[in-house]
Amino acid sequence: MTLSLPISPRLTPKALSLSLIGFILLVCFSLILATAWQMVQSSGERVDAAKITVSNIVLAAEQQARDTMLQADNTLRDLAERVAHDGSGPDQQERLAKLMARQVNDIEGVQGIFIFDAQGNWMANSFSEGLQTKNNGDRAYFRYHREHDDQSIHVGSIVESRTTGDMVIPISRRIQTADGAFAGVALATVPVSYFQSFFKRMDVDDAGVIFLALDNGELLARRPTVAALMTTNLSKGEIFSRYLPQSDSGTAIIKSIVDGIERIYAYRRLAGLPIVAAAGVSYEHVFAPWWSYVYQSVALVGSIILALAFLGGLLYRQIQQLLVAERELKIIRKELEVIAHTDGLTSLANRRSFDLAMDKEWKRATRNQTSISVILLDIDLFKQYNDHCGHLSGDDCLVHVANIIAANVNRPGDVAARYGGEEFVVLLPDTEVAGAVMVAENIRLSLLNANIPHSASPFGIVTISSGVVSTCKTREGDHKEFLLKADRLLYAAKSKGRNRVES
Ligand code: GH3
Ligand code: MG
Ligand code: MG
Repeated sequence: MTLSLPISPRLTPKALSLSLIGFILLVCFSLILATAWQMVQSSGERVDAAKITVSNIVLAAEQQARDTMLQADNTLRDLAERVAHDGSGPDQQERLAKLMARQVNDIEGVQGIFIFDAQGNWMANSFSEGLQTKNNGDRAYFRYHREHDDQSIHVGSIVESRTTGDMVIPISRRIQTADGAFAGVALATVPVSYFQSFFKRMDVDDAGVIFLALDNGELLARRPTVAALMTTNLSKGEIFSRYLPQSDSGTAIIKSIVDGIERIYAYRRLAGLPIVAAAGVSYEHVFAPWWSYVYQSVALVGSIILALAFLGGLLYRQIQQLLVAERELKIIRKELEVIAHTDGLTSLANRRSFDLAMDKEWKRATRNQTSISVILLDIDLFKQYNDHCGHLSGDDCLVHVANIIAANVNRPGDVAARYGGEEFVVLLPDTEVAGAVMVAENIRLSLLNANIPHSASPFGIVTISSGVVSTCKTREGDHKEFLLKADRLLYAAKSKGRNRVES
């Protein structure tokens, strides 16, 4: 068994044009797809990088807030125990005030430390100013400790300091007697500005944000700060309402409820403290370089596509021109073929064409053992015609005679040709001698009927003589002898007086 591999055929110009268009479209499409994929990829990378940045900022904010608050809490716990043990007589108060004045310097970020008695009266503080006149029994943190037997740190919402007038975050502890009765409150205040100035040093953009808030949503500090800091509550924002209930830390892309800016946020609940830290960088800031990359890519891809389209158009036009040229060439080739096989004067087949046809029909007759006939014709006394009427009239006469011959040779496969000068030949395949003689006679009579004057001829008109040969016993390669026989018969016709058919 043999295996034949298919040979890919040459593409037609039309298929070539279509392939070209298809190829260019494919390249453009792939380019667009690849660029789009790259853009999506890089936008994802930018978001991921921004998430890492904000997460690190949140970690730093958490660290700072925890350090300050836990240190403050340690001090408050110490003070609360002292008051519970040592009582709060005038001596103790003086000692406490000195101790607190020292402690306040040791804890970074704490502005003041205070002790209030069970009624909220100022007992001692880290400031060296009079106490008796003031009472903090109205403060929310004070009321909280009075009503809650809670031994842990308490961070309250922002209040305006009655000592400095600053906005401060109150960090407090309950003081109680050995039997658990409420005996007052120890308080440390951290100015909001302490956190805000720390936030200022962090690396977020101008539209970015860093904030600390109580876990009930009340703001404690924010960069950039807001006018209504003390009354702003974030509990309805998505971080508090949606994300924190699911996870104590994470990242999210959210539109701020405070300023409406869309940001990439990281948030974190501070371990052991009722505080949430969060930071966000604006979407716009994150994507500014990405957009310039997109514009550049679109411009680049656009120009490549334009160049491809231009090049494709150029090639397409070339192919179309090739198509036209090929078509014209085909027509010219056909015309050339006709010219190569036709006699220029008479439009009959030429000698070459006759030779080819003769060769072919001879072989066919040999193969099939069929008969074949040839008529060789020669115009009588044509030299004299030329001499009398001129060469141009001679040419006209030749055309006239050729037309008469052609009109009498009708069967498919018959060939009438100009054999040379004023000689003609008719090839009649599959024709016996009687038929061939009939055709020769028809030509002779048609010419007589045409009545072309020829004063130098004894007939007074143009006549023709012919020799007819026919055979049904052809042998390969014998047709030269066959034609010679026709020529001899033609010569016989001439010598017998012309205007006759010899067979
Ligand atoms: P016959 O055949 O009857 O014996 O006499 P003839 O005069 O025809 O004989 P010959 O073959 O000697 O002369 C042929 C002439 O035909 C010679 C030439 O002047 C003429 N002839 C040949 N070809 C052309 C041609 O293309 N145009 C013209 N006008 N004359 C041609
Ligand atoms: Mg002749
Ligand atoms: Mg002649």
